[in-house]
Amino acid sequence: MTTTDAMPDLPPPFVLADHPALDLLNTQMLVEGHKRDLLQNDAQAAQWLEQIGLGVATVVGDGRLLGELRALRDSIESLVTARRESRPADPATLNRFLLGAVPQLVWEQPGAPELDRFHQADVMTRQLSRLAYAAAELLAEGDFNLVRTCESADCSLMFYDRTKAHKRRWCSMALCGNRHKVAEFRKRRQGV
Ligand SMILES: [Zn+2]
Repeated sequence: MTTTDAMPDLPPPFVLADHPALDLLNTQMLVEGHKRDLLQNDAQAAQWLEQIGLGVATVVGDGRLLGELRALRDSIESLVTARRESRPADPATLNRFLLGAVPQLVWEQPGAPELDRFHQADVMTRQLSRLAYAAAELLAEGDFNLVRTCESADCSLMFYDRTKAHKRRWCSMALCGNRHKVAEFRKRRQGV
């Protein structure tokens, strides 16, 4: 798969993976057979971080947020791929982001202080280290039998299957599940 520049009519990223690290990987997706990056600037990066519940950052617009988010995404992508293929990989880049997730004692009120793992003054560092921590937890403790790619042949979206029966097959029913059902129905009707 080659990555090509996004076209203006690309959809905003889908948040459907049931895991923020996989949602980050899904910000690159197959569109008509080409791998596209749905995050093209700092504003889109900030919007996505807000969409997945990591808070609101000030958009500086110097490309740093997008650059850092892409670096984190590349790292998570290579590590998740390695984990799925049962081979070791180099977590140096992810570990760099995890340096922002060092617990700090915060003592602003009388009584017991708080132990806060994400107490960074800089919102961007806080957001990215939260994301990195979620990815690290997934890699270290997640059940990779439940990390799957949508079964649709032309869909690259991944998800963490949190359904009770662990039989989730599609990124979403609306995007791919229904398409599959219609195709199956047609096949049955035509007796194929
Ligand atoms: Zn799909």
